[in-house]
Amino acid sequence: MSTYTVINPATASPVTEVALASLDETDALIERAQEAFPAWRDVAPGERARLLRSFAAVVDAHLEELAQLEVTNSGHTLGNARWEAGNVRDVLNYYSAAPERLFGRQIPVAGGIDLTFHEPLGVVAIIVPWNFPMPIAGWGFVPALAAGNTVVLKPAELTPLTAIRLGELALEAGLPPGVFTVIPGKGSVVGERFVTHPLVQKVCFTGSTEVGKQIMRGCADQVKKVTLELGGKSANIVFADADIAKAAATAPYAVFDNAGQDCCARSRILVQRSAYDEFLGRLETAVGAMKVIDPADPASEMGPMISAKQRDSVEGYLSGVEAAFTGPVPTGTDGFWLPPTVVLTEDTTIPVWREEVFGPVVAVMPFDDEDDAVRLANDTEYGLSGSIFTRDLGRALRVARAVESGNLSVNSHSSVRYWTPFGGYKQSGLGRELGPDAPNAFTEEKNVFIAQD
Ligand code: NAP
Ligand code: MG
Repeated sequence: MSTYTVINPATASPVTEVALASLDETDALIERAQEAFPAWRDVAPGERARLLRSFAAVVDAHLEELAQLEVTNSGHTLGNARWEAGNVRDVLNYYSAAPERLFGRQIPVAGGIDLTFHEPLGVVAIIVPWNFPMPIAGWGFVPALAAGNTVVLKPAELTPLTAIRLGELALEAGLPPGVFTVIPGKGSVVGERFVTHPLVQKVCFTGSTEVGKQIMRGCADQVKKVTLELGGKSANIVFADADIAKAAATAPYAVFDNAGQDCCARSRILVQRSAYDEFLGRLETAVGAMKVIDPADPASEMGPMISAKQRDSVEGYLSGVEAAFTGPVPTGTDGFWLPPTVVLTEDTTIPVWREEVFGPVVAVMPFDDEDDAVRLANDTEYGLSGSIFTRDLGRALRVARAVESGNLSVNSHSSVRYWTPFGGYKQSGLGRELGPDAPNAFTEEKNVFIAQD
């Protein structure tokens, strides 16, 4: 049996061993999920709602345990990890109201009645990356279950612990066996089998754009449904008329949260030239004051990178560019740490400006006017999120409408809210998660005409 040694990224020390599912085991668990489907589909809406609320209550009762697991497995700050476990609970509560509200329509026709139904798909597969193991799992499995599907879920190899625990808690909450199954394993084994197995009706993937494209190609073989949440290179656009103090004080958290390992990281900051010097001065102060300390300390604002490999990859982006300034970094630990790092550039061709670094690195560039800002913001293959700082309401609206991105915030870096839609333009993704319509994405819309004579 092959196993994976989970490493605590803050200390580089081993935590535990996790068994990796083989191809045969994966097949057996997918078949079990298929066997569990008809009964789960037929659970009365109010009863399915009650089970999801019960699951939420069990997650809430284990919130601290889940948070501590994430700190140890992923190096997330304790504050973030508590929020993440709470997010799973909140998403369960939100979509627990969906089973009784999976409305179809009645459409006027001659000679009878026309009805639409949202039918569940069957077995849905969720593939989760290592950067936000709990929330991204929940955004997939919760609306899928609410819509009457059974779910198989593969956590990232690096970060399986909270997902495994959530699978156990589902059973404790009374979900029938086979309805929600967590399958730890390799992307090349379990993940690929989700794509090729004919009983899997939909693949919901979050991760790199490169693997996402592979999954989409694979799903084409069976015309399998697919949702993709991929990378980002989001812009934080600061106009000179903005509250510069607020923009500079908040910018570090919009990119260095989770050590920059966030698909929504505002990793490009565009600053109007007339405010550039003031912004940079204030940014340097804010970055210098960040608490980059042991993530288990409740005061920690930034922890380590997930792995030595990820840290090496980020260091690769930094070789050959000069950092304007950096924030603090702990010493005397073997963990995978890097300091928050700020690079200044006017060159849009350098990798730090173009590519998703996925680490604590931000590139800052001046711009001249509104058109310039929009052009620079859109000069990327990605389009996931972004921020706009200005006191001019008209400008805020114009720029928010012009930036090609799925999730924008004005005078804020609002993170994802589970009750609003989330997803990417361009190569940041396909489809939307969360928000009021998410369960529909896990259904087929069926149209039935009934003649009256
Ligand atoms: P990744 O390599 O794409 O892996 C994501 C998941 O896919 C992991 O569970 C991985 O398993 C699995 N996988 C790998 N190869 C596969 C294959 N051939 N078939 C099926 N599954 C496969 O990404 P990552 O390195 O975990 O995460 C970093 C990337 O994810 C960044 O680019 C980031 O922007 C993106 N991301 C996007 C969002 C979003 O919402 N848009 C959110 C988070 C992350 P293993 O762990 O075993 O490799
Ligand atoms: Mg990978």
